[in-house]
Amino acid sequence: PQNQTTSENHVFTSKLPTIPISNHLPLHTYCFENLSQYPDRQCLLIGNTGKSYTFAETHLACRKVATGLSNLGIRKGDVVMVLLQNCAEFVFTFMGASIIGAVTTAANPFCTAKEIFKQFSASKSRMIITQSQYVDKLREAGDNFPKIGEDFSVITIDDPPEGCLHFSVLSEANEDEALAVEIDPDDAVALPFSSGTTGLPKGVILTHRSLITSVAQQVDGENPNLYLKSDDVVLCVLPLFHIYSLNSVLLCSLRAGAAVLLMQKFEIGTLLELIQRHRVSVAAVVPPLVLALAKNLLVDKFDLGSIRLVLSGAAPLGKELEAALLSRVPQAVFGQGYGMTEAGPVLSMSPSFAKQPLPTKSGSCGNVVRNAELKVVDPETGCSLPRNHPGEICIRGPQIMKGYLNDAEATARTIDVDGWLHTGDIGYVDDDDDVFIVDRVKELIKFKGFQVPPAELESLLVSHPNIADAAVVPQKDEAAGEVPVAFVVRSNGFELTEEVVKEFIAKQVVFYKRLHKVYFVHAIPKSPAGKILRKDLRAKLAAAS
Ligand code: ATP
Ligand code: MG
Repeated sequence: PQNQTTSENHVFTSKLPTIPISNHLPLHTYCFENLSQYPDRQCLLIGNTGKSYTFAETHLACRKVATGLSNLGIRKGDVVMVLLQNCAEFVFTFMGASIIGAVTTAANPFCTAKEIFKQFSASKSRMIITQSQYVDKLREAGDNFPKIGEDFSVITIDDPPEGCLHFSVLSEANEDEALAVEIDPDDAVALPFSSGTTGLPKGVILTHRSLITSVAQQVDGENPNLYLKSDDVVLCVLPLFHIYSLNSVLLCSLRAGAAVLLMQKFEIGTLLELIQRHRVSVAAVVPPLVLALAKNLLVDKFDLGSIRLVLSGAAPLGKELEAALLSRVPQAVFGQGYGMTEAGPVLSMSPSFAKQPLPTKSGSCGNVVRNAELKVVDPETGCSLPRNHPGEICIRGPQIMKGYLNDAEATARTIDVDGWLHTGDIGYVDDDDDVFIVDRVKELIKFKGFQVPPAELESLLVSHPNIADAAVVPQKDEAAGEVPVAFVVRSNGFELTEEVVKEFIAKQVVFYKRLHKVYFVHAIPKSPAGKILRKDLRAKLAAAS
């Protein structure tokens, strides 16, 4: 209703009313603000051990770790690296660091030592909290890298190898001895790295203000956009080192008083078993997981009737896959969120998750979050575009990043002087305020003068019963410049020829979107956050030609 649509400036806002947001608080205070209403309720459920922590126990553990970190010399503004799969210690460290004004940078434990040390150095981390199995990798990195015990300390959550400390030095500290610190809303609290889908991962500075704003945009207000109830069990299988899971799963659940089921890693059988056992009600997923839930035959053997809501984000998901998923969990409400690390990260969220739900269309990423502004600009001219015109999505609001880490130039390129963050994603807003993402600017395939979004073809491909997974990339072509080609994984035991695949697409799309070649492969390369690594496939094509 408040949307201005003057001819120069088309700015879209939420259909939900603006709300007061307590973003003057420190993040931990905000997340645990309602603790006294439910101290004994389950907060963290540990999937692989069956252990659990109530809200009061979780809060206490975070405060102990806060003292423990300061006992080890961590001070306000210092950075702690967490190199862990999902576990309770991840949560205690992140919140503990926040309490003393320190900053957490979380890295993927499956990265190489070189990649880990790159993030370690860029973030100027002083400590790594990890598991013993990853310590060898750090040790074997070689002489050019910082030395454990000399340059930084390592704490392990299991038996510490030589020269490392056990997590109990943190978790058994006296919570009453934590140093009191003044925290400014604009102080950093997290340094997540972007996924590295299009290039090298970029360090992103998120402040207390940005994360609180983003969480509040989702779960606060009379009519929260993402209505989490205190009796919900929220699935946390996506890695907490990625901002989607950290923000929309962990922080939102803490704030709303919902339980979080922590799963170390994705394995379909275990996942289904845990969903059934813990009666998971909210599932935060990414497209590859939707693909597994839609296509894996094991799914029928489990009772998934407890799931009331499925949220997908982090990568494009077409209508076809959405429909296939819903046939497996017909009682659930399905919707998407659209996020980007730099945006804090959530830009839009399905209104079908609200306390008073509103409809949204299949294939859409919902509406722009409240207390924020979204516009779509012509990438060439920078002019804002009206409804139904695809262009680059831009977002503005207190939730966006403070900037890139150590890269003022990239920050200035991304956040303009008026405070608009340019996402690099092509999308549009339709007549009902539904946001649709077409694809990334960088990934559009240019066939002569036409643009082909690979995501659209991928979504059609996976709707074929004999296709388990697929990715589309451009291949150089003399006549057309670029042509779309597909990498396809056949479903187990099915015959499928290149001609059949080409034909299947050709009858559904305009001529310039037709596939020119199909390569059958065993798997599609994906990042831990579920994104297709098209750059790897492009490199494969380039190497072959
Ligand atoms: P890098 O910037 O390092 O190349 P990345 O952009 O994949 O990696 P993230 O910040 O994790 O890193 O991901 C943000 C991007 O993910 C968005 O810019 C968008 O392209 C994509 N994305 C997120 N949610 C959706 C969605 N629901 N639909 C389509 N794309 C999405
Ligand atoms: Mg990005």
